[in-house]
Amino acid sequence: MKLCMIGTGYVGLVSGVCFSDLGNDVICVDRDKKKIEDLKKGIIPIYEPGLDELILKNYKNKRLKFSTNLNDSILKSDIIFICVGTPTKKNGNGADLSQIFNVAKEIRDSISKFKIIITKSTVPVTTGDEIEKIITKKISKKLFSVVSNPEFLREGEAIRDFIYPDRVVIGTNDKKSNKILKNLYSPLISKGAKYVNTSRRAAELIKYASNAFLATKITFINELANLCEKIDVNIEDISIGMGLDKRIGSRFLRAGPAYGGSCFPKDTKAIVNTSDKFKTNLSVIKSVIKSNENRSSILLKRVFKILNNNVKNKKICFLGVTFKANTDDMRDSSCLSMMPSLVKKGAIINYYDPTGEKKEFKKFKNVSFSTEINSAIKNKDLVIIHTEWNDFKSINFKKFSQNKKMIIFDMRNIYLPSKMKEQKIKYFAIGC
Ligand code: NAD
Repeated sequence: MKLCMIGTGYVGLVSGVCFSDLGNDVICVDRDKKKIEDLKKGIIPIYEPGLDELILKNYKNKRLKFSTNLNDSILKSDIIFICVGTPTKKNGNGADLSQIFNVAKEIRDSISKFKIIITKSTVPVTTGDEIEKIITKKISKKLFSVVSNPEFLREGEAIRDFIYPDRVVIGTNDKKSNKILKNLYSPLISKGAKYVNTSRRAAELIKYASNAFLATKITFINELANLCEKIDVNIEDISIGMGLDKRIGSRFLRAGPAYGGSCFPKDTKAIVNTSDKFKTNLSVIKSVIKSNENRSSILLKRVFKILNNNVKNKKICFLGVTFKANTDDMRDSSCLSMMPSLVKKGAIINYYDPTGEKKEFKKFKNVSFSTEINSAIKNKDLVIIHTEWNDFKSINFKKFSQNKKMIIFDMRNIYLPSKMKEQKIKYFAIGC
C-alpha cells in the first residue's frame, strides 16, 4: 500500500519504517528540513534501539522515502497518517491541536482521489469530527474517511511494540476503510495482535484512558513506596506480591521517580481537560497528576536527608537523565526539576547518560557531563541512579568507595540492599 506519515518524530518515523519493512511504500514527511536532509544521509534524529538498521535497509530498497513536500507526498499516497505533536497548551491543560488542524488544512488542499486520513497522534475525543469538518469545507465526504488509529508504542521498545502490539485499535464506522486497514495490519494480526474496531470517538478515548491508567499504576506504587519507607517493608516485595495477581499485572508497578516523557504528563492533563469540558469529574486522574507533580520534591527531600541537609559543595553524580532508559527523550524527565533544585542548594553535579550530553543543562554553571560512567562516579559524595539502563546494572561501587565514602541513592531499585550492605556500601533505594 502507499502510505504517507506526516510528522517524522518518534511515532511517525518508527511506524513509517516498520510499515515499509512490512512491504508498503512509505513517504515520511516533516516540515523540519534538517531532520529530513539528515535522514536521507543516514543520520537518525532519535535514539531508538534497532531503528538505524531498519531505516537503512528500507531506504536502500526504496520502500522508504523522506520528504518535506507535504502536498506531493499526499498526492502519491492512499493512506495518510497524521503523526504530529499534540503537546499541552501553553495556557491551560488541554492538548494543543494546532499542528493537527494545520495538517488537516494542508491535506484538504491535496485530495483528488479517495484517501484514508488517520490520526495516529494522541488526540482528544471529537478531534476526528473536527478534522472531518475542516476537510468537508472544500472536499466531498465521498473522497475521504477520517479514522482514529492510536499508537501504543513505548520509546526504547518502539520497534518491538509496533511489530508485536497487544492490539490494533481502528476507530471508524466506514466499512471500506476498516477493510483496507485490517489488510494493512494483517501481518501484525497474524502474529497475534488483536484487531479492535470501534467508533472513532471510542478509539480516541481508549488511548487517553490507557495512558491515564498506566500513570495511575505508577503513581499508586510510588505512594505505597513512601509508606514502605516508614514501616521497614521493601516495596519490591509488594510489587512482586501484587503483580503476580493476573488481574493486576506486574508491568508499570515498579516504584521510582515521577513518571515523565512525552505522553503520560500531557495525556493525563488532556483527559482531565476533556472531562471538565463535558462536565464530569475524573477525580482519580486529578489526584494522580497532583501526586506525580509532588514526587520529585519527595525524592529531593530524601536526598537532603541522605546528605544530612548538607548539600552545599557536595559532589553529586546522576547516572541517566532521560525520563527512562533506552531513549534520548528528555521531555518531562524528573531530572529537569531535581537537578536545578540541587544546584540551587549549592551541589556540584556531574552526569552521564548513554545518549550523550543534554542541551537542557548547558545553562547551569555547576552541571557538567562525563563521557563515560567511571569518570562520572569517581570522587563523588553521592551517586544517584536515575534511569534503568543496563549499563548501570553491574557497576563495581566497592572500587569507587575505597578512597572516598560514597553514598548510592538508587532511584530504580536496580541493586539488592542486602548485597550492598554485605559490601559495606552506604546504599539507599526507593521504598525500603
Ligand atoms: P515528535 O515531537 O517527536 O514529532 C512530531 C513531528 O511532527 C516533528 O518532527 C515535527 O517537526 C513534525 N511536524 C509538526 N507539524 C508538521 C507539519 N505541518 N508538517 C510536517 N511535519 C510536522 O512527536 P512524537 O513523540 O512522535 O508524538 C507524536 C504524537 O504521537 C503525539 O500526539 C504523541 O502523544 C503520540 N504518541 C507518542 C508516543 C511516544 O512514545 N513518543 C507514543 C504514542 C503516541
